Amino acid sequence: MALNLPVIFNAPTSVDCGGCTVCCDLLGVKELGKPYYARCQHLTPGKGCGAYEARPSACRVFRCAWHLGVFDFKPQWRPDQCGLVFSIESDPDRNAVFLHVYEATPGAADGDRALYLARRILADKRFRRLNRGKNTIRLFRYGADIGIAYPASALYDYAAPAKNPMKLTGGMSVFNGTHRGLVMPKKTD
Ligand code: SF4
Ligand code: SF4
Repeated sequence: MALNLPVIFNAPTSVDCGGCTVCCDLLGVKELGKPYYARCQHLTPGKGCGAYEARPSACRVFRCAWHLGVFDFKPQWRPDQCGLVFSIESDPDRNAVFLHVYEATPGAADGDRALYLARRILADKRFRRLNRGKNTIRLFRYGADIGIAYPASALYDYAAPAKNPMKLTGGMSVFNGTHRGLVMPKKTD
């Protein structure tokens, strides 16, 4: 699965992420060899990025849907508060753009809220490039062991699965592989 940066036009000015550092746990970062659902070795809980000036370009450009202003910057929908990260991602292998929903808190995607918020995004004209099909919304439950197309850093005791099985369920394409919680980096000192 090829995953990369948000694709959007006319995004409002970036706002501060406040106390949220959720994407530093959830998202894969090729430059760091960081798998998905793995804590970045540079993340200092409560303080943010410990390598801010030298952080990879993927970190510099990433903006989740909340950060793009889709939810009018309402604090209750910020990922660390609502437990869900919405991310517009392109898949060059399929020449398509998808809406990924990552669970940041176990159970946050239970019920209809994830689908409701995802549909709000799909209704936003700025996301007109999104692929419109049955599998446009891709849900990844907390700890999803998402395969990566790059080597994992030796900081993680981790072997990525070869496939990312998905299953259409409840109006979304849901990750149907294994779930293994959050992988922590080895201590280096
Ligand atoms: S998940 Fe969104 S709001 Fe939270 S740190 Fe990342 S970009 Fe900022
Ligand atoms: S380098 Fe910094 S911004 Fe990038 S994932 Fe790590 S802690 Fe987050």
